[in-house]
Amino acid sequence: MMFMQFEDLKEKVVLVTGASRGLGKAMAVEFSRHGAQVAANYNASSEKAQQLKEDNPGIEIFKADVSDRKQVRWMVNSIIKSMGRIDVIVNNAGVWKLQAFEEFDEVAFEMMWRINLLGAIYTTLEVLPYMKKNGGSIINIASNAGIGTAANGTTLYAITKASLIMLTKRLAFELGSYNIRVNAIAPGWTKTDLTVGGRSSDEIKELESYFRSRSELRAIGSPEDIARLAVYLGSDYSRFMTGQVLVIDGGRIDNLSHSI
Ligand code: NAP
Repeated sequence: MMFMQFEDLKEKVVLVTGASRGLGKAMAVEFSRHGAQVAANYNASSEKAQQLKEDNPGIEIFKADVSDRKQVRWMVNSIIKSMGRIDVIVNNAGVWKLQAFEEFDEVAFEMMWRINLLGAIYTTLEVLPYMKKNGGSIINIASNAGIGTAANGTTLYAITKASLIMLTKRLAFELGSYNIRVNAIAPGWTKTDLTVGGRSSDEIKELESYFRSRSELRAIGSPEDIARLAVYLGSDYSRFMTGQVLVIDGGRIDNLSHSI
């Protein structure tokens, strides 16, 4: 496959939250491959983050729990101190706690709410004073669950992602005059720790075939598929695009409604 090079990213500093594993790691690597300087955030997975830095000389790592505003402030100040600016934020850190609605677990819901939504709010708030000077791009990693795809146990997770989508649209409106673009990516089911962690290989095969059968392409995507869309949104090649929700899921066919 021939890969396009987004030359402008060589001038940019990109912060990816939750970059120690999964989609965040793939995005950090892909931005770095395009020549961007990448600040990769992690929280618990120190060894994986350290390995990411060792394997990719353009990537610096920064520990912070994105659901704690003080830690986010410290992280952003450290990035500005060592890398000078932040041009792109990828609000990716997220958790997925499967639960049936009627078995509502407040602790699990609050954890999703704090990381998936407040994490994006805190990171954006702390970066904005710097980003407002030069403009920039904010990419929120939502989910196709947030626009109403059907999978058991994901109702409460979907609510956090629907909120992130509304945050995206409102911030596009509020920040457009600063030349800050705000878009969301809504990925479909992708094999990462989040979706297959702790499952047997038979269970994983079953899940793959379930999600494959629910896509028009009869396929499931890879973290790299999502990462290539993120670099496009981070680069000036998408300079006229804001307030959009880009669904990348092979064409899911089990939508609960037809509106977005
Ligand atoms: P993953 O493999 O479980 O990775 C999650 C990442 O988030 C890890 O790097 C983890 O870092 C980080 N993280 C978790 N809590 C954090 C916190 N409090 N502060 C900072 N970082 C934190 O998940 P993934 O599949 O890559 O998902 C990434 C994003 O895509 C999530 O927002 C998820 O909802 C969304 N998404 C995923 C899929 C999918 O099918 N995989 C589909 C749609 C949307 P540490 O391990 O270092 O704590």
